[in-house]
Amino acid sequence: MVDIRVHYMRMKEALRVAETALTVQEVPVGCILVYKNTIIARSFNQTNLSLNGTKHAEFEAYDQVRALYPDTYRDIFRDTVLYVTVEPCIMCASLLRQLEIKLVVFGCPNERFGGNGSIFTVNKDTSHFERPYKVIPGVLSREAVTLLRKFYLLENSKSPTSKDKKHRRLELNEFPPIDYSRYLERDEFQRAFGEEFGFVFDSNLFLEFDENGSIVNESKNKRIKT
Ligand SMILES: [Zn+2]
Repeated sequence: MVDIRVHYMRMKEALRVAETALTVQEVPVGCILVYKNTIIARSFNQTNLSLNGTKHAEFEAYDQVRALYPDTYRDIFRDTVLYVTVEPCIMCASLLRQLEIKLVVFGCPNERFGGNGSIFTVNKDTSHFERPYKVIPGVLSREAVTLLRKFYLLENSKSPTSKDKKHRRLELNEFPPIDYSRYLERDEFQRAFGEEFGFVFDSNLFLEFDENGSIVNESKNKRIKT
C-alpha cells in the first residue's frame, strides 16, 4: 500500500499543475503520471487553448508518455498511477482502461461526465476486454472544486450580461458531499486510507489532512470521549 501521505503530496502537485491552467484562462483540471516513483508527465486541460474538446489533461499526459517511450508506453502505463484533480470523464476513462493503467487517484467527482462511478463505471465494467482499474476518490476534493469555481467566477466576471452578484463570490463553505460507495467498496477505502477511517466512508465526509498529508478526521464518538 502506498502511504496516503504520498498520495497527498502527488495530488498537491496535480493541483499546482491545474493552477497553471488558470493563468492561461484554461479550465483548471491538472494531472500527473507517476511511474515507479517518478513523475513522467504533467499536464492540464487544453480544450480552450487548442479549441479541441478532446484535449483533456489525461490525453495530454498520454501524448507526453508516448513521445517519451514510443516503444514501451503500453508496458509503462500498466505500472503507472494517475493523479488527477477531477474524476476522469467517460472518454478519458475509456483511454485509461485501454491502457490498463494501474490506479487512478482523483480529487473531486465529475458529476456530469464521470466515467469512474459518477455516471458510468468504464473503469470496471465487465463488458470491456481490458483489465479493470481501481480508483481512489476524494483526495483534496475541495481544493479541486475551489479551482473550478475560481475559473467560472473569472469567466462570469467577464460577461457583460452577468449582474447576479451571488455568482460573483467565491463559495468556500459549501461543497457537495462525496458518496464514496459509487467509486469503491468500503474495505477498499479502508485499505487506501486506513482501517480507522471507515466512518468517513459511511458518512460521506471530506477527508481532512494536516500539512504533512496525514488524515486527521475524528469520529464523533472519539470527540465525545476527549
Ligand atoms: Zn476527459
